[in-house]
Amino acid sequence: MQTVANFNFASKKALVRVDFNVPLNERFEITDDTRIKATIPTIQKILKDGGSVVLMSHLGRPKDGPTEKYSLKHLVTPLSLVFGVKVKFATDCISDEAVELANGLQAGEILLLENLRFYKEEEKGDVDFAQKLAHLGNVWVNDAFGTAHRAHASTAVIGQFFSDKVSGYVMQAELDNAQKILEYSERPFTAIMGGSKISDKILIIERLLDKVDNLIIGGGMTYTFSLAEGGKIGKSICEPDKVELAKQLIEKAKAKGVNLIMPLDNVCADDFNNNANRQTVERGEIPDGWEGLDIGPKSIALFQETIAKSKTILWNGPMGVFEFSNFAIGTNAIADAVVKATEENGAFSLIGGGDSASAVNNAGYGDRVSYVSTGGGALLEYMEGKTLPGVAALEA
Ligand code: AMP
Repeated sequence: MQTVANFNFASKKALVRVDFNVPLNERFEITDDTRIKATIPTIQKILKDGGSVVLMSHLGRPKDGPTEKYSLKHLVTPLSLVFGVKVKFATDCISDEAVELANGLQAGEILLLENLRFYKEEEKGDVDFAQKLAHLGNVWVNDAFGTAHRAHASTAVIGQFFSDKVSGYVMQAELDNAQKILEYSERPFTAIMGGSKISDKILIIERLLDKVDNLIIGGGMTYTFSLAEGGKIGKSICEPDKVELAKQLIEKAKAKGVNLIMPLDNVCADDFNNNANRQTVERGEIPDGWEGLDIGPKSIALFQETIAKSKTILWNGPMGVFEFSNFAIGTNAIADAVVKATEENGAFSLIGGGDSASAVNNAGYGDRVSYVSTGGGALLEYMEGKTLPGVAALEA
């Protein structure tokens, strides 16, 4: 695979697929620019070599074509500040205007295209649409790991129109770190899985059972395991149709000698809101009318003890409803423990995208773990052993 680091972009027009799917507030201001900052090294390398850059991305999930809320025009000024270059903007990603602006682009200049998903063809992976986009550059750079598990026009299909296909620094770092965890992990290796449902994470959990020494389970998926053990879970989130699966996972972990670690206690609430009444109960003893929204102090201590002894740590999914401050205590305590293991014991820690990445970034810990992935679904699929279309397109 060609990488940005060893490709010379002099006189080249790089069509760069980035993931600028950033959160905006009601005034269309960016509230978290992590994804934009992540692309700086790739863009700067291209400009420094003497190339120009055409940026393409999606933003949100527009349903019916152009929508003010999802316009990438809101990013033009912030991007100009971040890159130190006045960013040009094409109000339609495949219009004559876009072609003209791209053709007129000089070395050192940047053009941003309007939201790719204003065309349904993007998500459909339409070949003609991909070809139109391909006219806007002579090298394709894919730096959007977060959408690499989708066979969309700009993330995968477009690859066939280029002889020069290059993976960006974000893409490369994501792949390197995921591989490091799966292939070269130092032991003990602990995976911490949380989030709402087992069904989303079953494949990765099964794969991890072949790799890890300890598997910590937290978050909403705990309650399906609790049911499998015959526990009482009140009105906690659970997937009754996955109880058998949870039983099988418990058996598989035993058979493979994996230490499966579940919460000892839970903080439960009488309503799904931050100010609900709270009580801490033992696992499997949640009263009727109550729902488990966080792990309790005994679980925190147990999880921390395991994390402290680990040399490799993979964390995906919060330990509770961390969006409510009263139920974020478990998730924050695990973030603390992962940082400590990284800084004090030299553990390699990878935070796997999505909500666990937000939790770590919100706590200001982004720089204090080994790597925070920008890809949620893409990272999980890669770790499940699936081929990501966006990566395969770079290798073809
Ligand atoms: P996921 O996308 O699967 O990683 O799930 C993240 C979501 O799981 C977050 O929005 C959490 O609020 C939610 N979550 C975690 N623990 C619980 C729980 N005990 N009950 C309900 N939702 C939960």
